[in-house]
Amino acid sequence: MAYRVTFIPGDGVGPELSEATRRVLEATGVEFDWDVQHAGVDVMEEFGTPLPEHVLESIRKNKVAIKGPITTPVGTGFRSVNVALRKELDLYCCLRPCKWYPGVRSRYQNVDLIICRENHEDLYAGIEFEQGKPETHKLIEVLELLSHRKIREDSGISIKPISVTGTQRIVRYAFEYARKFGRRKVTAVHKANIMKFSDGLFLATAREVAEQEYSDVEFEDRIVDNLSMQLVQRPEEYDVLVLPNLYGDIVSDLCAGLIGGLGVAPGANIGDDAAVFEATHGSAPKYKGMNKVNPMAMMFSGVLMLRHLEELDAANRLESALAAVIEEGRSVTYDMKPTRDDPTAVGTSQVADAVIQKLQG
Ligand code: NAD
Repeated sequence: MAYRVTFIPGDGVGPELSEATRRVLEATGVEFDWDVQHAGVDVMEEFGTPLPEHVLESIRKNKVAIKGPITTPVGTGFRSVNVALRKELDLYCCLRPCKWYPGVRSRYQNVDLIICRENHEDLYAGIEFEQGKPETHKLIEVLELLSHRKIREDSGISIKPISVTGTQRIVRYAFEYARKFGRRKVTAVHKANIMKFSDGLFLATAREVAEQEYSDVEFEDRIVDNLSMQLVQRPEEYDVLVLPNLYGDIVSDLCAGLIGGLGVAPGANIGDDAAVFEATHGSAPKYKGMNKVNPMAMMFSGVLMLRHLEELDAANRLESALAAVIEEGRSVTYDMKPTRDDPTAVGTSQVADAVIQKLQG
């Protein structure tokens, strides 16, 4: 039976990347019944919002979606569609596998990391108080009273909530992933030595989950600054990383850099009831319609989706086909060539052709 999957082409370069990805996913032989839904700047005029309710409904119903990048409209009062999707569908885990493939130009080889970033809490919860506003002065007064510390009157304040519930589920996700895919170790990342009641709680909760529920998987923790240094020195020492939101954001870009950059960095946002697969990169508007940018990050996100659907054979075949095209280095986009103006670089759709040829060969 065909999988009913919500398919969101996105905007900017999204539609071309999505089309290339749809073609390679279908070439695996797995059958899809795409539920095409549009979101982003291009639908704002028609629906008055970049994320119409029927798009959310479609994902709730189908439980799985693949999406192209979507531009965050600046100065319109609309929040990011990407952030809204994660909130509305309670997609609490941002999964970012960072794996190096032979042929990718990078300073590092043999990097194979899985990043599980908590998606809702921490300094990204959006609880902010602007400098100079009456409510900010009020908050400062209360905080000074409760904490017996002086806060400058001209401060802006962002709140960092980290909960036991939020931490338990992201840490469980990391361990479940490790078990399911035979990974050797989970590392919890934090700054618990400084932020005892937020990061400290994250660490204590992670330790408890590790000890009580997953004693079969190795567990360790690292302070985020130390981890950052070690990742650039010895990335092969790490395996699955689980992090609160802010560190997860920064470390996942660091790791995308280790494996060759945005063109090959896939991702997924996953909750208990739905999962949305998408590349790490954005809509690169300046390249819109040029058949130029690299579709591999979105195609690798498709590999993740196939694994999520338990189509393991198809996932492995698509991953191998992508790896073969990368290793040959011929049918790759400009960003994967030795120089950015290499005349032998191919376009987005030609990468799809080459991947399909490998799948069929
Ligand atoms: P971006 O990732 O779109 O592009 C930055 C640069 O990276 C590009 O100019 C290009 O040189 C390179 N790049 C990106 N993707 C590439 C690819 N597939 N192949 C080759 N090169 C690639 O980042 P930005 O310019 O900061 O953001 C543009 C828009 O995308 C913004 O509106 C932002 O909010 C949005 N965005 C969306 C998502 C998402 O949909 N999940 C994620 C990040 C940013």
